[in-house]
Amino acid sequence: MLSFWEKNSFLDYDIVIVGSGILGLSTACEIKERFPKKDILVLERGIFPTGASTKNAGFLCFGSLTEILADIALKGEENAIKLVEKRWLGINLLKQRIDENKMGYLSYGGYELIDEKAGSAIEKIEYVNSLLQGIFGVNAFELRNEDIRKFGFNSDKIRSMVFSPFEAQIDTGLMMKTLIKYAQFLGIQIINGAEVKDFKKSQVIVKHQYMDEEVIFKAETVIACTNAFTRKLFPEMIVTPGRGQVIVIKPITGLKFKGIFHYDEGYYYFRNYGERVIFGGGRNLDFKGEETEEFAFNQSIIDDLVSKLESMILPGTNYEIEDMWTGIMGFTVDKLPDIKVTDNDVIAAISCNGMGIALSSYIAKEIVNFIS
Ligand SMILES: Cc1cc2nc3c(=O)[nH]c(=O)nc-3n(C[C@H](O)[C@H](O)[C@H](O)COP(=O)(O)OP(=O)(O)OC[C@H]3O[C@@H](n4cnc5c(N)ncnc54)[C@H](O)[C@@H]3O)c2cc1C
Repeated sequence: MLSFWEKNSFLDYDIVIVGSGILGLSTACEIKERFPKKDILVLERGIFPTGASTKNAGFLCFGSLTEILADIALKGEENAIKLVEKRWLGINLLKQRIDENKMGYLSYGGYELIDEKAGSAIEKIEYVNSLLQGIFGVNAFELRNEDIRKFGFNSDKIRSMVFSPFEAQIDTGLMMKTLIKYAQFLGIQIINGAEVKDFKKSQVIVKHQYMDEEVIFKAETVIACTNAFTRKLFPEMIVTPGRGQVIVIKPITGLKFKGIFHYDEGYYYFRNYGERVIFGGGRNLDFKGEETEEFAFNQSIIDDLVSKLESMILPGTNYEIEDMWTGIMGFTVDKLPDIKVTDNDVIAAISCNGMGIALSSYIAKEIVNFIS
């Protein structure tokens, strides 16, 4: 059973946030920066954040040309461009909160590889650039076909390449470690190994790992930033898990490219990490099968990544796979983040879809607006 001391000092807070991914931590930091006296607790089920934030590819991106065109078709010009703006604002807020050196920030820019199937997108560069003028002030995209061969890509498969100078890459692990340290520096308490099972008004219920009892944390304000896992706690929230699989290859001496690269409306993505290549995606090969919260591999997707690596990205280059992993994203129907106050007064914030590293610092501000 809990001791008198534990009950006296460990259970009462102004604000409890569930989930220590980038959104939960950014929200905690945003509140503490604005209201330094607030006593904030973050509860995390895993030994590390265990969803998407420490599993992603480390792109600071706002949407590739074909992805923006697909978004315009899905939700209209205004919503699609607003989302790009939020991602861009989020990237800049993240850079204000975390020093570039402390997240491995490198601004080599971003590229999209366009194959024959997507070729018509090239004719729409000017149209999309004009829509994005208000955000970037200059053209966001330009053709860079001359780099296809320079980077060693297979020019039989890749017909065009579109460059954006506004995209960058980070070291995801370093960024998250720095964000955790910054939150702790601000005085935010983080408890790991605390899986929240239920909520009552102003109460957050965790099953104690080693004792046969519930631990009930109390707070004026409760915020859930549990992304893909939200529907377990709030079935009324519509969020679908989507698994992402990633492989990393051992360093290649003289790797020919630097930057972040998108392919096929962003369903595939690769980048250099020094002289390594990190390559992920392929969820679109089996949308239904990848709607899972399981951190397992889908061999047919791994096989597809390997085949694209060999035939398109590193043709004729010897390489060795060093490691692979999976992470779980959360998707809303219209790909827009969603913040709701639930029946038991919890502010539930989902989900940054496939671009939460870019978006989270901005969405954290929107969450704080919900707090009276
Ligand atoms: C393979 C992959 C590549 C990606 N690449 C990029 C990229 O390059 N750029 C980009 O911007 N975005 C990328 N993303 C998306 C990005 O990582 C996510 O949008 C972002 O991390 C979401 O952050 P979050 O804090 O909302 O969710 P999460 O990081 O999933 O955090 C949710 C947290 O809640 C915890 N939790 C859940 N339920 C409970 C509970 N009941 N009790 C306690 N804790 C709980 C989980 O353990 C988890 O730590 C990628 C994602 C993946 C998987």
